[in-house]
Amino acid sequence: MKIKVRFPPSPTGNLHVGTTRTMIYNWLFAKQNKGEIVMRLEDTDTERSNKEFEADIMNSLKWLGLDWDGPVYRQSERTKLYRKYLEEFLVNKKAFWCNHSKEELEVENKNQIEAKEPPRHVCSHKQDNLETGVVIRVSVDSNSDRTISFNDRVKGKIEFKESLLGDFAIARNLDSALYHFAVVIDDIDMEISHIIRGDDHISNTPKHILIYEALDKPLPIFAHIPLVLGTDRSKLSKRHGATAVSAYKNDYLPEALFNFLGFLGYTFSKDIISKEEMVAEFELEKVHQSGAVFDIKKLDWINSQYIKKLPPEEFKKLANVPELPDEAVLIVTERLEKLSDIQNFNYLWEKPKYEKDVLQWKEMKPEEIQNSLLQSSFCAGVEIKKLGSKLDEIAKDNFGGDRGAVYWPLRVALSGKKKSPDPIEIIKILGPKETKERINEAKKKLES
Ligand SMILES: [Zn+2]
Repeated sequence: MKIKVRFPPSPTGNLHVGTTRTMIYNWLFAKQNKGEIVMRLEDTDTERSNKEFEADIMNSLKWLGLDWDGPVYRQSERTKLYRKYLEEFLVNKKAFWCNHSKEELEVENKNQIEAKEPPRHVCSHKQDNLETGVVIRVSVDSNSDRTISFNDRVKGKIEFKESLLGDFAIARNLDSALYHFAVVIDDIDMEISHIIRGDDHISNTPKHILIYEALDKPLPIFAHIPLVLGTDRSKLSKRHGATAVSAYKNDYLPEALFNFLGFLGYTFSKDIISKEEMVAEFELEKVHQSGAVFDIKKLDWINSQYIKKLPPEEFKKLANVPELPDEAVLIVTERLEKLSDIQNFNYLWEKPKYEKDVLQWKEMKPEEIQNSLLQSSFCAGVEIKKLGSKLDEIAKDNFGGDRGAVYWPLRVALSGKKKSPDPIEIIKILGPKETKERINEAKKKLES
């Protein structure tokens, strides 16, 4: 059997990280089996779909390296195909026009809920052969004692009672197919072999199976994947933070986000894992049963591991800091979780800005700070290897061995920060001339 899966995003929003995680599993599965991936934009909701969202989806997939085979299909361009099948369904009495009003359906649903039954519509127009109406529905036998079951590759055997499905809607009119119908017609037409999607679609599956059966088509294999959750274990949404892949582009490496998303529902053999290794390891049957929490701290950690591995030139390009000296790349990449955090290290390529109070260590008096800085400035040209012991000596001779009295003002003079890498590391990057200049500027600040 030829393996064929699909990416079916709706361009009604930016590409969502949860959708992307599901696409990653489709991608891994297809690559592993030398299968194909169909790209299909589900844009039947013309009011909410737009080209900007479409561009965001395409760019984000490209950025992550999630490629597909063949053309990009748009459901909005396939209405003729859906119409052909809708007409066939009506002629064969697999579907019918329902003319019940919204109000009538609401009353029906209210009664069903009171009777503790699932809300659905059991239509009395089935035999009426109406030529038009409010909506086209599939005719489902409400007296059936059949159990519709399928073997889900992730969730195992799943069963539904046919009698509880109701006559479900598939089109507003012949030129306006609804989700359930368009999806199944497309999956059949595109010969999709494996439908790997979020488990919020499980309850749609028996309806889809009925459409396959009405057309006498073999069923695909279904695999329903648990949803991505927020930290409070509810479905991941904007209140948990950014949900669009594009919101992560400035701070994270695509390989890191891919690696992180891959773990939302699966346990790979190691935390930092390449796409190729993921492809080799992935098994649908090992996808987790329950939802995975989107933990930004884990993403930050994974990202920091990828940043560390970047060659200097590439890092400078990605972080947009061409002025950063090559020697500084290592101390910076050792300390970054997000690319934009590089701005905390701007003192490595430009003079720091700070208030003079920051120079003060403990109860030091201004003249003591001046003295400390003066002594340090004499060391600016000392060989880096010997610099540490030289600074320790100053502390011993002048400040009773309190190293902070030397290191603190020096650190601030060089970086403008209370927290920074070791001042010696900074001196190594700045060189003796710049070091001296910065110390002198600090001294001037104290005089003002
Ligand atoms: Zn009806």
